[in-house]
Amino acid sequence: MLYTMDPALRAIEHKVDEGIPLSLDDGLTLYRTPDIHNLGRMARKQKERKSGKKVFYVLNRYINSTNVCYAHCKFCSFAVDEFKEAGNVFRMTADQVFAKALETGANFNQIHIVGGHDPRQLSLDYWLPLMRRFKERLPHVQLSLFTAAEIEYMAKRHRMSFEQIVRELKSAGLDNVNGGGAEIFAEETRKKICPNKVNAANWLSIHEELHRQGVASNATMLYGHIESLEDRVDHMLRLRESQQRSPGFNAFIPLAFHPDGNELNDCGWTSGLDDLRTFAVARLMLDNFDHVKAYWMIQGIKVCQVALHFGADDMDGTHGSTDEEMIYHSAGTQSGQYVDDREFRRLIEDAGYVPVRRNSTYDEFPHDWAPPSQQPELVSV
Ligand code: SF4
Repeated sequence: MLYTMDPALRAIEHKVDEGIPLSLDDGLTLYRTPDIHNLGRMARKQKERKSGKKVFYVLNRYINSTNVCYAHCKFCSFAVDEFKEAGNVFRMTADQVFAKALETGANFNQIHIVGGHDPRQLSLDYWLPLMRRFKERLPHVQLSLFTAAEIEYMAKRHRMSFEQIVRELKSAGLDNVNGGGAEIFAEETRKKICPNKVNAANWLSIHEELHRQGVASNATMLYGHIESLEDRVDHMLRLRESQQRSPGFNAFIPLAFHPDGNELNDCGWTSGLDDLRTFAVARLMLDNFDHVKAYWMIQGIKVCQVALHFGADDMDGTHGSTDEEMIYHSAGTQSGQYVDDREFRRLIEDAGYVPVRRNSTYDEFPHDWAPPSQQPELVSV
């Protein structure tokens, strides 16, 4: 029997080939098509228009600096109420964060740090000196810090505008802001899952301000909980419009909801097919984003390798070598804490692509690149 293409996909493929942005209905058609093979083929074609045969990875260090948080998002398994669960609190001092990063050595290109809304840690008094210390000791390592939710929290507590807080953070060396906190923009759904967190309009305004001031960023979407497919496509459309207003997003990162230990546990796990569809739909909807990331920590390294054939062109980073990622590990991810960069290269080459080492802003490096100033004493605090 001859395999026939879902006719609904033909018109959409034509639009993508002509560079015409897709609509909400197109996005829903892509999500609902039974023709997963052609969906993947279309997304792969679009990925190869953007980044050819390249697939990116980064040598980085990932740190969650505090699990104290007052936002109480329903999907979160990481945050701790410091009064009710005092025994489970961790709150790293600036010296501890610095020492943790230096454990990695010097041969890495990014420090990625996010944490809870912790009034004792999330302040400029804590972060600005620490950021300057990083820049002095590891000038080649890009600072990929905070989410827009954390930046809004700091702006409120210091009574600053978004413009002012971004200026302060940039002056201390902020290179990139992580894409978290976006969750789902659709207001009704957002109110149910994270009513105390930055709202959609402010999340987008903060990223647009970052971009205006020359700080790069990424964007995420948390899917697989109570949201509808309309919410997902609407989320992508809002990001596309934001990128048009104030360009500066590098990568879109779909984050699959994990159910262990949180109030939305009855939503269960996403399926592999839903994950792959989401990568493909994102690649096709977000025509003004250069990269779609298949983050191995979230969907698992095997699904992420297959996602390279569904539009993804990035697998994220090595993460350092200890147990620093707590957000998804609290929620039940079976992924480990560390992937050797050789393993990234093997997985990418097996999928038929060319591995490329990058930093947060997608400057490219040889695989064996090391900083010229790498000295043995760099590893001591
Ligand atoms: S998702 Fe972030 S903001 Fe929400 S409760 Fe967890 S740590 Fe706090």
